[in-house]
Amino acid sequence: MSHATLFPGRAQRRRWDDDLTALLEAATQRVARGPVTPDFDRQDFQAELAAFDFARPVPWADLLGWTVARLEHGVVHMTHPRYLGLFNPAPSFPAQSADRIAAAFNPQLASATTSPAAVAIEAHVIRAVARRAGLPPDAAGHFTSGGSEANHTALVCALTRAEPGFATSGSRAFAGPPVFYISGDSHLAWIKIAHLAGIGRAAARLVATDGHGRMDPEALAAMLAADRGEGRVPFMVVATAGTTNAGMIDPLGACHDIARAAGLWWHVDAAWGGAAIASERLRGLLAGIERADSITIDAHKWLAATMGCGMFLTAHPALLAEAFNVRTSYMPSHAPSADPYLTSVQWSRRFLGLRLFLALAAAGWAGYAAHVERAVALAGMLAGLMRALGWSVLNDPALAVVCLAPPPGSPPVGRIVARLLATGGAWVSAAVFEGREVVRACVTHGETSAADIAEVATLLEQARVG
Ligand SMILES: *Cc1c(COP(=O)(O)O)cnc(C)c1O
Repeated sequence: MSHATLFPGRAQRRRWDDDLTALLEAATQRVARGPVTPDFDRQDFQAELAAFDFARPVPWADLLGWTVARLEHGVVHMTHPRYLGLFNPAPSFPAQSADRIAAAFNPQLASATTSPAAVAIEAHVIRAVARRAGLPPDAAGHFTSGGSEANHTALVCALTRAEPGFATSGSRAFAGPPVFYISGDSHLAWIKIAHLAGIGRAAARLVATDGHGRMDPEALAAMLAADRGEGRVPFMVVATAGTTNAGMIDPLGACHDIARAAGLWWHVDAAWGGAAIASERLRGLLAGIERADSITIDAHKWLAATMGCGMFLTAHPALLAEAFNVRTSYMPSHAPSADPYLTSVQWSRRFLGLRLFLALAAAGWAGYAAHVERAVALAGMLAGLMRALGWSVLNDPALAVVCLAPPPGSPPVGRIVARLLATGGAWVSAAVFEGREVVRACVTHGETSAADIAEVATLLEQARVG
């Protein structure tokens, strides 16, 4: 019986699949009409969870109903049209379908020998995105678990190129402590990445911002020169194109020029903002990205793929083979350069790229252009409505992120946000931008409407006046 639940027969499987489809359909409809925030009791939930002792099998129908219901009531709903949150998308339908297909075949993407069709689909999408970003024709890369893995990959490539002895001897091979440059408003996964790479957290040098959330190029140049004077060994400059806090874009041209003049790897972290390359109207914001040595773009952010889907793109694919190559007797490899396990951090890997392949093939770049332009327009609308209510917009909402400061004399931002979340009517976050507390709102959902934005503005003002 228990084994038959792990591997049910065809007819049974079909019925349970249909049941699940119906359950999910009903639940997602209720989610869009209900509160954005969780409405469950954590203590009750812990008790329910503890009752799963995994000694007695639970009937499948009960288990499905319980799981869907608890997710319906036990998470902040990224699929709610008034979730104006942290770069977490309502996933596109093609991406969701891709997950089902990948789960059905469960191909192993480590090797092109065993999964030639799947590996070729991923490589095709990566080349298309790299071309769209303006990288040279031989640029390549791969799908990653997210932006953090992609940024980690950039760091390893940069270290490998900077010091030929790094592969064998690690950071000991450098003549002094290796260091890299990120802005104070960059994504601080970089700190973890420095720790993981064994170069130490102090290797992440935080460059001052210019008062508008962008890296100050003069501060970068000064820090670089001072570090060299003190015996440190700079190896990479990272520009963020779309900061997590405020969607601000570091001055790409100036950062590139400084990195080049110093002979350093230049990485552009466009985890969120990279989606703007889809739009002829918006892509100019990212001018200069085409000169990057490597780029991070998260498909699971503005490109609306399901969770756990990033991309690493590089103009120097040979370095990937150098950094991640190993020889084994047991892997069925014929063409090492095409085998993802020899050119990336992961070994066994899920078929992530199908999500973006199906979305791009079904909707085209034009579909994504409409998606990002729509988000930017709605963010602009929110900025306008809040200004009319006396709030100030502290950032440039060009990439659909709005940082809002309430008028003088208002309660602290944390209290305004807490009051708003308590209504369940919308989700925004509290953040700090250039030293000031702000309400951060980002349009991530492809179906957020103008009416939703108007309602968020009303709810925010109500939360402010209490
Ligand atoms: C989200 C984000 C990251 C981290 O990406 P994950 O996909 O969460 O691992 C890195 N950089 C920027 C600019 C981001 O917005």
